[in-house]
Amino acid sequence: MPPVFRFAPSPNGYLHLGHAFSALLNVDLARQDGGRFLLRIEDIDTTRCRPEFETAIYQDLAWLGVAWERPVRRQSEHAADYRKALEKFSALGLVYPSFESRAEIAKLVAQRETHGPWPRDPDGAPLYPGAAKLLPSDERARLIESDIPYALRLDMAAACAHAGELGWTEHGEGPDGETGAVLARPQAWGDVILARKETPTSYHLSVVVDDALQGVTVVVRGQDLFWSTSVHRLLQKLLGLPQPAYRHHRLILDGAGRKLSKSTEATGLRELRAGGATPADIRRLAGLP
Ligand code: GLU
Repeated sequence: MPPVFRFAPSPNGYLHLGHAFSALLNVDLARQDGGRFLLRIEDIDTTRCRPEFETAIYQDLAWLGVAWERPVRRQSEHAADYRKALEKFSALGLVYPSFESRAEIAKLVAQRETHGPWPRDPDGAPLYPGAAKLLPSDERARLIESDIPYALRLDMAAACAHAGELGWTEHGEGPDGETGAVLARPQAWGDVILARKETPTSYHLSVVVDDALQGVTVVVRGQDLFWSTSVHRLLQKLLGLPQPAYRHHRLILDGAGRKLSKSTEATGLRELRAGGATPADIRRLAGLP
């Protein structure tokens, strides 16, 4: 079976040099290994994703000379797949609803921090500080029936106990040079959100379900997602899904050493193209042979 690679952008802005690097690296590796290359549109966040950004993704990638298989998987069209996975977690007793608003969570964190630093996840966000896991079941049922929004969270301690020790083989490099056998540390993320009342999935859940459904065997993506792999390995184990190979790549930084953002025009593919850059120039700017 040929290896299967994928590039999975979110249509919440225009692609920049960093995306071009990731997409072209996937395509180069697929070509080298006689593999397939898929494009997936990660558009579950309906508040930030827009059709014009999706159209621009297709245009910019085609301009770069990237060819992908059709049909493209668009996450917004597959709620039923994510719901099925979520039901599995519920059946295992590993999810619970939490009802605090963002402001209430921030207040709880501030309260905790009066006693010392509150733990943060690898992205720097405070871990969930609430006690919704301990709500009595009648209170929980009453809140679910009310019109209060809620998040469905993974009970991380129970999930880790269920799954046991996990790891992955890193074929690229993590942010601190991690490579080879890496021990997964999903606990570092706390009780992550798997879905919300109005969105039946989350980044972590849909990426894991989709990589398995699409038969992705090699995940090539930026180092900013390196530690997310800990959560992905945990979800894969609990759902009985195969483990792809992982290869995290360097990030392209701006002149000040910051990660590129979709709003930094200087490195946007559209701006570079309008300024006269060719696809070969983009490869060179991204440091690709
Ligand atoms: N959609 C994610 C992003 O645009 C990438 C997900 C992945 O490659 O796992 O950052």
